[in-house]
Amino acid sequence: MGSEAVRPLDSAGGLSTQEARRRLAQTGPNRLRPGRRESILRIFLEEIREPMILLLLATGILYSVWGELTDAGTIFAVILTLVAVEVVNGQRAGHAIAALAKLSEPTATVLRDGRTVAIPAEEVVPGDVVVLVAGQRIPADARLIEAHGFAVDESTLTGESVPVERSALPESSPDDAGRRNGVFAGTMVTRGHGLAVVVSTGERTELGRIAQLTRGVKPPRTPLQLAMRELSRYLVFVALGSSVLVPLLGFAIAGEPLKEMVLVGLSLAFATIPEEMPIIITMVLGLGAFRLSKRRAIVRRLRAVETLGAITLIATDKTGTLTENEMRVVGLSPSDFGRRILEIGVLASDIVAGRSRDPLEEALVQAATGAGIDVGALIAANPVRDEFPFDDERKLMTVVREREHDLRIVTKGAPETVLARCSSRRSVRGERPLDAERRSAVLQEAARMAAEGHRVLAFAEKVAETGSAVDLGSELVFTGLAALADPPRAGAAAAIAACRRAGIRPIMITGDHPETAMAIASQVGLDDGGRMLTGRDLDVMSGDDLRAAVAGVTVFARTTPADKLRIVEAARSLGNVVAVTGDGVNDAPALAAADIGIAMGETGTDVAREAADIVLADDDFTAIVHAVEEGRVLFANLRKGVRYYLACKVALVSAVLVPVLIGVPVPFAPVQIILMELFMDLAASATFAAEPPEPGLMRLPPRDPRLPFMDREMLAGILVPAAGLSAAVLTSYLATWYSDPSSARTAAFVAWLLGHFFMALNLRAEREPLHRVGIVANRLMLAWGAAAVAFVAVAVLVPSVHHALRTVSLSPSQWALAVGTAFAGTFWMEVWRSIRPARS
Ligand code: ATP
Repeated sequence: MGSEAVRPLDSAGGLSTQEARRRLAQTGPNRLRPGRRESILRIFLEEIREPMILLLLATGILYSVWGELTDAGTIFAVILTLVAVEVVNGQRAGHAIAALAKLSEPTATVLRDGRTVAIPAEEVVPGDVVVLVAGQRIPADARLIEAHGFAVDESTLTGESVPVERSALPESSPDDAGRRNGVFAGTMVTRGHGLAVVVSTGERTELGRIAQLTRGVKPPRTPLQLAMRELSRYLVFVALGSSVLVPLLGFAIAGEPLKEMVLVGLSLAFATIPEEMPIIITMVLGLGAFRLSKRRAIVRRLRAVETLGAITLIATDKTGTLTENEMRVVGLSPSDFGRRILEIGVLASDIVAGRSRDPLEEALVQAATGAGIDVGALIAANPVRDEFPFDDERKLMTVVREREHDLRIVTKGAPETVLARCSSRRSVRGERPLDAERRSAVLQEAARMAAEGHRVLAFAEKVAETGSAVDLGSELVFTGLAALADPPRAGAAAAIAACRRAGIRPIMITGDHPETAMAIASQVGLDDGGRMLTGRDLDVMSGDDLRAAVAGVTVFARTTPADKLRIVEAARSLGNVVAVTGDGVNDAPALAAADIGIAMGETGTDVAREAADIVLADDDFTAIVHAVEEGRVLFANLRKGVRYYLACKVALVSAVLVPVLIGVPVPFAPVQIILMELFMDLAASATFAAEPPEPGLMRLPPRDPRLPFMDREMLAGILVPAAGLSAAVLTSYLATWYSDPSSARTAAFVAWLLGHFFMALNLRAEREPLHRVGIVANRLMLAWGAAAVAFVAVAVLVPSVHHALRTVSLSPSQWALAVGTAFAGTFWMEVWRSIRPARS
């Protein structure tokens, strides 16, 4: 199909929107996997097969055989509710994840109706003309029709990671294509830029053929998910042990009927096996990732979500993260050559359709236009012959322009690198040699401009004969300097201060001039002590020196991506949990080496995005701090949810164990145990995930990720509330038992249902008393609590349900006892938290 599709090509204007739409309908979207939708029925069937549900089903069937049909009815109603909730939860998580995937979907730049537009890569069709630049993933199989210094990394296809050059050869025969001018979907542009016509998309690409083989790889579990599985595996045995022990003792000591005890055992197993633990963490992580996306941070790897709260050091770029990345030329030196400087600036830029994608180059174009230069005409009169794009190692860019009789070589870049390639300078009296004195004068001028926080560019050029072997790298004529203002972002200083308060050390790693770096650093409050190191300083440092430097220095300037990698590694070896930002192709190693790699969504390359764990939609440093806060909230909520969940299980086991040990019947009927489990599950998996941050969360030091999840504090946090809840239930039960045995179970049931709601409220806060975290701040939990209270009221006050729920009416004093013990057994924690001096 390829050749037919390529024929009606207008490489100047690309396809028309209409034609593109027609082709999209014909070929289908440009993606590998046809989107598989999880149907409700499918999730339902999956849920039904869960071991817990099977256990419940077995109990229900035994009930139908031995007991009464109403009990079986209740159990099947519980099963349906549980499955429905899980299906809704599953859908919710699924939607959240689909929404995330949408946000991080790749885009492609194509020519449509004669203009360049960015579209989702999925909408690329055969015949589209795509614009390819370094750092991009190629969206479809295509043939180059224009290429400048173009090289691709085809390791995704061939396994060979050495970049291969590609050029735009005349199309001899369509069948011969795909050799020297062919580029393939999924491979990466490592250098240069070009235009290519799409030949095939989606499953019909080379990658599509390979992808058929490697489908369905699931993302690896995060460390916390693994830890939770481990823990719940261990707890399963505890739960099973007590589910056997309690009925045995009930039978042997309290002399209860065997059948009833088998049912108690089964329902206890159902209620105590901690099957929700892995689900709680997945819910919390998934919802956390979704909340992060609302704060403009898109999570690519779930494990990053749990690491966020533990970050101790953030190594950030300057341009775009701390600054606006909206540049403006504010000075030209020497001003006599202002026009010429701007002309070189425009000619040494990568301009498509009168615009540049690089804000710095765009600023030059704007300034040139402002100075009366007709940029379009200038470009048209000097077509590109060759281009050596900017890269952050060399820090300069050279373009060879073709004129009628000769070649014009133009360069722009960091002053010291440009000067190193110049042998003469432009002066009012023509070209003059560039002596040492002049060089240092120029560098001083550059430093002066930089000290005002401006980015500084130097410009040079030379003319050569057409066809001569030109040496691009030397003997240039230095022309002048430009200063570009890029003001700090409004929120940057506040975000830096917030980092410090939260015990996180921010450092700046920039490719810019040391003076520019220091000036911006001091504007955003980053310059503690004023120490600064440059890439050159780092070059001569040993590993130990570097570690010492990283421990004390806040600003690193004129660095290369390789320096960045070394700094990240040194910081990690000092025990830091490091987040690092990056945008270029060469930043990928540092992003991958960090605990959390953060790529720029706006200016970042696909390469950086793919190496990163998190992508910042608008490049803003403030979003990193928000993300850290979100990470801390979610970790705290996870602890709260697990603490509550396990406290319920411990309380339940002890509340049934103590009576049988002293020869009193089990305090709950099996049906009641099943209903209790339904309530506690709902609270644990859903309501704690919705808990807002506690005040002062960003004033605490970062969590130490080496500490185990189930530490002493956590264990105490489970056992103490559990003891309170079970004491409440036991008091209510036993006191009623000795006075009026027929009401005892109901008294226990009421004390439990209210008590476990009160306990949930208490466990919402880790450090602060409830009135300070806001009683109504978690509406989901209040709604759940209201449901529990309503259920209690119906269960006791409505006689028609008494039989099904094994409840009876309570006297006012029995009510008072049940409510009172539930309250006292849980709210003492609140009193204690209020009077105890606050821990920091
Ligand atoms: P960071 O985002 O980490 O702050 P940076 O963007 O400041 O990094 P680079 O992009 O590596 O750092 O730029 C370093 C220097 O290279 C700049 O100070 C400038 O002199 C020069 N430079 C930047 N962009 C271009 C460009 N498009 N063409 C030529 N020179 C450039």
